[in-house]
Amino acid sequence: MRRINNILSLALIASITLFSCSEQEPVVEDFSAPDDVVAQIAALGFDVENFPVETFENGYLVERDIYLTDATIAEMGRGNAVPSVEQYRTNNLVNAGGGRVITIYAPEEGSGGGGGKGKKGGGGSGGYSPAMIAGLDEAISRYNAENLTISFQRVTNSSGADIVMTRLSKRDERRGVLGSAGFPTNSGDPYGEIKMSGVLESSYGLSTNGIATIIAHEMGHCIGFRHTDYFDRSISCGGGTSNEGDGGVGAIHIPGTPTGASLSKQSWMLACTDGSNRDFNNDDKTALDYLY
Ligand SMILES: [Zn+2]
Repeated sequence: MRRINNILSLALIASITLFSCSEQEPVVEDFSAPDDVVAQIAALGFDVENFPVETFENGYLVERDIYLTDATIAEMGRGNAVPSVEQYRTNNLVNAGGGRVITIYAPEEGSGGGGGKGKKGGGGSGGYSPAMIAGLDEAISRYNAENLTISFQRVTNSSGADIVMTRLSKRDERRGVLGSAGFPTNSGDPYGEIKMSGVLESSYGLSTNGIATIIAHEMGHCIGFRHTDYFDRSISCGGGTSNEGDGGVGAIHIPGTPTGASLSKQSWMLACTDGSNRDFNNDDKTALDYLY
């Protein structure tokens, strides 16, 4: 999930510029992914035209906040056509059985459990501020309030946690990435890692509810939700209307949800955020309840 809105983007750019002037000459980095990888990702049904694939961590950032590696790309098969209606899920879902508690660990500021490199002046490798942890707790309580067959629980030890939330690199926090996640595994487990910016309050001024919305969005990917408006990013991201992708895999319409996404409904799985609070709307609840 990237780009909060123009004003915040400008603020970010301004801060980067100031930083650059005081430190060194700005370095323009090229994050484009290789053409053959982009072709593979397009064949899977992702929108690579309106969301240019970028290199990220040990893989690629797709549709703004989906993290794929060469291994996960190879694992995903070709198949179904991509529908053009609201609320999508991936082929794989979390195996909830008769009820499953998904544990989430996030290192807290000063805990020394950040990126393993100690304190870096608030940069990418540290733990999370109390505001970020409050956002995570709020995101968890939103899911748990729906009485689903899955529930979430924050734990204070990373060992054995189903999902570990860690800081983005300082470089990615600076270039405006807000968060990233992946999709459930073939064996029915949630995706195990959320990479999340730690500066949602300090740099963007987001409220607890705004932070919770972004974390809940990445948690949504981990349990199998795709972007509500992935077929037309202009719904939440602005810009020109774009056509939905052609064939692909892993975007299955969820019964009972309406045809056509709209910004006014403020689904928590819209591709772009404006930093505001997007609690689950009725269609989101229908989708969650249907899957879990
Ligand atoms: Zn997303």
